[in-house]
Amino acid sequence: MGEVISNERCKLQAVEALESNVRSYSRSFPAIFSRARGSVMLTDSGRKIIDFLSGAGALNYGHNNHEIKAAIADYLASDAVVHGLDMATPAKLQFMETFSSVILRERGLQYRFQFTGPTGADAIEAALKLARKITGRRNIISFTHGYHGLSLGAIAASGNRFHRRASGVSLSDATFMPYDGYLGPAVDTADYLRKMLLDKSSGIDPPAAILVETVQGEGGINVARMEWLQSIQAVAREAGALLIVDDVQMGCGRTGEFFSFEFAALSPDIVAMSKSLSGYGLPLSMLLIKEELDAWGPGEHTSTFRGNNLALVSATAALDIYWRTPTFSQEVQRMGELMRGRLHAIASEHGNGFVVRGRGMALGFDCRMTEIAEAATRKAFEKGLIVERCGPNDQVVKFLPALTIDAETLNQGLEIFEDSLTQTVKKARSADWWL
Ligand SMILES: *Cc1c(COP(=O)(O)O)cnc(C)c1O
Repeated sequence: MGEVISNERCKLQAVEALESNVRSYSRSFPAIFSRARGSVMLTDSGRKIIDFLSGAGALNYGHNNHEIKAAIADYLASDAVVHGLDMATPAKLQFMETFSSVILRERGLQYRFQFTGPTGADAIEAALKLARKITGRRNIISFTHGYHGLSLGAIAASGNRFHRRASGVSLSDATFMPYDGYLGPAVDTADYLRKMLLDKSSGIDPPAAILVETVQGEGGINVARMEWLQSIQAVAREAGALLIVDDVQMGCGRTGEFFSFEFAALSPDIVAMSKSLSGYGLPLSMLLIKEELDAWGPGEHTSTFRGNNLALVSATAALDIYWRTPTFSQEVQRMGELMRGRLHAIASEHGNGFVVRGRGMALGFDCRMTEIAEAATRKAFEKGLIVERCGPNDQVVKFLPALTIDAETLNQGLEIFEDSLTQTVKKARSADWWL
């Protein structure tokens, strides 16, 4: 066993020597991950690790989901077209028809599909470009702690200073407004936004769009209230701006319903989707665009890997398997409540101002102190749990287990987190750097 582990350590060192310093998750989770199924990953040395990160939300249906894999294997075996630029294929037609009937029609929504380059960032780029083209305006309203990706247009609308600085150019044409709750419970920031946008002398240029996450994933699992989101939509309409919902991370069932904005009955002009859209961790991104806003000229926003057919096949399979009945959504909400209950119990047991936030199976455990969150997640990894941090100071532990996780594995993971936190708190108290 010792030999196996040192072998894994050698491989890790080889990766470090070869791969750029830009690598990031491999630093937080130093192991060679060789296999995975469902919510469990297996390292090179045979260690089993429970995954509460799920590819940053790209694996809502778990690793190597059997049923989805079968659809991919069949497709590959049939010599159907895998890559065809954005030419028409049966796989693409079937995806659009299935999405329209299973997801959109059921919810009284109607959209056109735009497949973008296969990153969330490129979907956001396309959305901003289209909003600017339609309105002839340049400014985008985005929100404090928002995250929309790292290409230049997307990072201009994202709050994080570290990432903004890394872009190396001046980032312009975005105005940041306080997200729901940013100024405390007494201030309705939607009222503030309305005042600023409708006042011709506020100094804010009329926006092409308001870009919003209903739950801020990278920003710290900050949850917007239904009333706030509805006000934001109304403000967008009053200001002649499009409403763009960034559902890249919170879509595909993460908050309990397929779209994260369903609970507020929003009708966004554009919806950006990626991460779990393909259902299998294959890269796939798209925009949903209201028909009357489809103002693109042919090829105005293009990319080589738009709507890759393999990813469209797995995406269709995920819709067929999980979204044809309400059962899955109900189960996600039930498991989310279970998680929330456990995390609340852990928070109140320690009684040190820990806060639990989130919706559905996107939950954040705010440790308030970076050091606590950092030490607890590092310890959790040693004990066999992958769990990430988020928030402006990486002080929030972010729980994104697969939506398909079984109760036993979920509880095991939560137990590891609880043990890790208890040890961290005990150590911090005895070292007197935290009371
Ligand atoms: C991850 C993410 C993006 C960017 O997606 P990439 O595929 O990493 O470019 C955009 N918006 C949100 C809300 C995200 O979570």
